[in-house]
Amino acid sequence: MHIYVHVPFCDSICSYCDFFRVKTTPQLIDKYIEALRKEINLYDIKNIKTIYFGGGTPSALSVNQIDELLSLFDGYLDNVEEYTFEANPENLDIEKLRILKKHGVNRISLGVQTLNDKLLVLLNRKHRSEDVLGIINLIHSVGIHNISIDMMYALPYQSVEEFKDHLATIVNWPITHVSIYSLTIEEHSEFARKHIDALDNELEGIMYEEGVRILEENGFIRYEVANFGRENYHSRHNLGYWNYDPYYGLGPGAVGFIDNVRYENTHNLVDYFDGKYRIEEEYTDLKEQMFEYIMVGLRKCEGISLQSYYDKFNVHLDEVYKDAIRKNINKGWLEINNGNLRATKDGMQFLHTVLIDFMSDD
Ligand code: SF4
Repeated sequence: MHIYVHVPFCDSICSYCDFFRVKTTPQLIDKYIEALRKEINLYDIKNIKTIYFGGGTPSALSVNQIDELLSLFDGYLDNVEEYTFEANPENLDIEKLRILKKHGVNRISLGVQTLNDKLLVLLNRKHRSEDVLGIINLIHSVGIHNISIDMMYALPYQSVEEFKDHLATIVNWPITHVSIYSLTIEEHSEFARKHIDALDNELEGIMYEEGVRILEENGFIRYEVANFGRENYHSRHNLGYWNYDPYYGLGPGAVGFIDNVRYENTHNLVDYFDGKYRIEEEYTDLKEQMFEYIMVGLRKCEGISLQSYYDKFNVHLDEVYKDAIRKNINKGWLEINNGNLRATKDGMQFLHTVLIDFMSDD
């Protein structure tokens, strides 16, 4: 089992952001921690393998708030292998890092996005590129050595060369993992209001290809469409999603999947504080589970083990979805290799289309 905790507070709002978050307010955070404590008590939580604090900006909380927040999870750490805390460079400091270390956090995911300061201003990010390496070294200084960096591409005014240069810089830093995301202009973001466009699809594709090449050439193994890790540093939490493991989603706006029920928590803080946690829950029937397992599993570069599919559903994947598999193997988008069904390099780019074939083939 895994736990995702949504911390919906940010000191400032990024121009591209459409996530659920509110401006950091001490009183709201205190109420949030109290409501979260009650939400945790609703569940019989045990045998947790990974915990992930995402946001929002978890590092926007004060030292004491982080201490209080993480102490809610101290009792669930016996089997935890990976404990991640998302942070932005501008609000992480040595005191916060010591508290994270004290509570067993062993992985930091750092929102870097770009090393171009002008673009950071345009994105309304508050750190500057020269701060980042110092923060990475600070993280190491408290004994946390598993560090992931988020980078964005297809940003307005960003060139392919610049993106390549930035990746070529960060691969020499002492980090273990890189996630790359293309900018999408979300309807309710500041960029959408200002009618700012992302780069065109062709440039976006070139940046992705070049990004993959540079990261792989420098020892970062692509294990999912957008995620690259050094050996033994592939995110166990994210692999949990792609392996279709159940997980608790805690906090306002979080999504969870327990006993084949997918649920979403309220985005309304007042409701959350009142204990009205879930706004939606839906049972996933066997047919949906069989499809969703493929939907998430094909995101992994290793694909889906035919044997584990049989072990889970007692049917052969390559028989149930015979037509979809044959069609996409003929197109060069899927392959069966060492007992795994997986997307080829081309297929990764057209996963959506591949999955439509699976949807209509059951
Ligand atoms: S830090 Fe993340 S959640 Fe907060 S505004 Fe920026 S993109 Fe949105």
